[in-house]
Amino acid sequence: MHFLKKVFISGNLNKVLPFLVLFGFSNDCISQKKEVSASEKIEQYINLSSTPSDLKKIEIFENDFPEIFKYYPNINPINPKVKPGLSSGFSSKRLHPLEGDLKAHNGVDIVAKENTPVYASANGKVIKSKFFNGKAGHSVELSHKYGFKTRYFHLNLFIVKTGETVLKGQIIGYLGNTGGSTGYHLHYEILKNGKYINPKKFLHIGE
Ligand SMILES: [Zn+2]
Repeated sequence: MHFLKKVFISGNLNKVLPFLVLFGFSNDCISQKKEVSASEKIEQYINLSSTPSDLKKIEIFENDFPEIFKYYPNINPINPKVKPGLSSGFSSKRLHPLEGDLKAHNGVDIVAKENTPVYASANGKVIKSKFFNGKAGHSVELSHKYGFKTRYFHLNLFIVKTGETVLKGQIIGYLGNTGGSTGYHLHYEILKNGKYINPKKFLHIGE
C-alpha cells in the first residue's frame, strides 16, 4: 500500500484510479465466489438420504462448515436431539381431514403433547407470527439464508415477533391444536426458493 500513499501525496490521481477500480472489482469477485460455493454445498446436502454414509456426510458438513450449517434447517423442530414421529407426510395431494377433499399437504405433521416447545430449525428472521383463523391457527414463518423458509402451524402460542432474529434451536412457540387442526400436532413446512420441499429430507427419518 506504500506506493498508493505516495501517489496520493504527489496528487497523481490519474495513476491511482485504475488501481482502486481494480481493487474494488476483485473484492466483489471473491465474495461472489464464496456465496456460490456455499449455495453449491447446500444443494449437495439437500439430496442426501438417511443412509449411514449420508448421515456421516451431514456430520462432516456440520463440523467443516459451521457457518453454512447454522442456516441449514435440519433439526427436528419439536426436539432437536430426537427424530420425530409423523402422523402425516408430505404429498402433492391427500385427503384433507376436515374438508374431505384431495388437497396438497405441503409439510409434515409432527405429533406431540400440548405445549411441547417448538424450536427454530435454523438461524433466521421472523417474517410472520400471527393467528390465521380456520387454517394455520397461531403460526410462525421464518426466513433463512440460502433461500430457505420454514413454517410452524397450529401453535398454542408463539413467543417471537415479526422482524425478530432467531437462532437455530431457539424456542419460538408451543405446540397446539389451533386453526384447522384435528389434534395436537405441529404442521411443519420447508421451502427453498419459494418451492415446497419434503421436510423428511432434513429430518433424516427416511421414507
Ligand atoms: Zn399438516
